[in-house]
Amino acid sequence: MLTTVVGSYPSFPKAPSSISEKVSSFFGTYDGYKPAIELAVSDQIKAGIDIISDGQVRAGMVEIFAQAIPGMIVEDKTPKIVGKILPPQGSVVASDLKFAIKIAEGISKDYRSNSNKKLEKGVKGVKGIITGPTTLVYSSRLEGFYRKKEDAIIDLAQALKRETEYLEKAGAVYIQIDEPFISTGMVDISTAKKAVEIVTKDLSIHTAMHVCGDVGEVFDKLLNFNVDIIDCEFAGIPENINVLEDMDLKGKKIGFGCLDTKTDIVEKKEEVEELIKRGIDLIGAENMFTDPDCGMRMRSRDAAFSKLKVMVEAVKGID
Ligand SMILES: [Zn+2]
Repeated sequence: MLTTVVGSYPSFPKAPSSISEKVSSFFGTYDGYKPAIELAVSDQIKAGIDIISDGQVRAGMVEIFAQAIPGMIVEDKTPKIVGKILPPQGSVVASDLKFAIKIAEGISKDYRSNSNKKLEKGVKGVKGIITGPTTLVYSSRLEGFYRKKEDAIIDLAQALKRETEYLEKAGAVYIQIDEPFISTGMVDISTAKKAVEIVTKDLSIHTAMHVCGDVGEVFDKLLNFNVDIIDCEFAGIPENINVLEDMDLKGKKIGFGCLDTKTDIVEKKEEVEELIKRGIDLIGAENMFTDPDCGMRMRSRDAAFSKLKVMVEAVKGID
């Protein structure tokens, strides 16, 4: 069973300290987030995670894209849609992915960039992550140009499609689309589905979609989305496991969140093992990836690292 993460990791950007860093800072070329990516990557590998992320250390999942996509702005910490949404000039997150792959390769050659890796036991890599069009629109204030959220979602999907192509080229082992809003009952599922189809069209690597929260009402619909993996929370929201009972997964794999990411309390290995075994009983180990419930940005570094380690050990105990 492959282990992965949802994406974000505690972020510790570094102020320039050496003379050369201070000079770079003066010329605006110093990047204090690179050390934060290095730390996220090396912690995940040290914990034994197979498919890691760059840690999404720069900003929140909405802000990082809203700052970069023409038609969107972030004002007083509020993301807004203020004009026609267009693809950004260049990629938003591919350079961080490339840097993460370089760091990972330096630690272990197993993480070498290779977009044609099969997602089977023993595979290692770095995944590319984008925030989904539906979530970006529902997290933003609509101020002009679009009257209907649905139109903004489709334009955003076109813009993000470019981003997934950049990530594929950069060496992502697969692409994950974060759509936490889909479980809220507020969104039009058919537009969300159409948008994901646009984003994933023409990709030759595998794709996943992460949905936060209680998916009881929407899970069967998620199985119709054009992705290979559906990733949900099963530790913090125990009732989610009921959706897997007698469910035809339609060929999809399940990202099985098995660590509560809302608390710094580190689970016991046995506890995590038991939850994973319940998942295996319902859908089979061959259909599961294990990961934390959600991003770990808000956790302490100690807690984030220890939780990942416990999960890896639990999986080893079962495999
Ligand atoms: Zn989540």
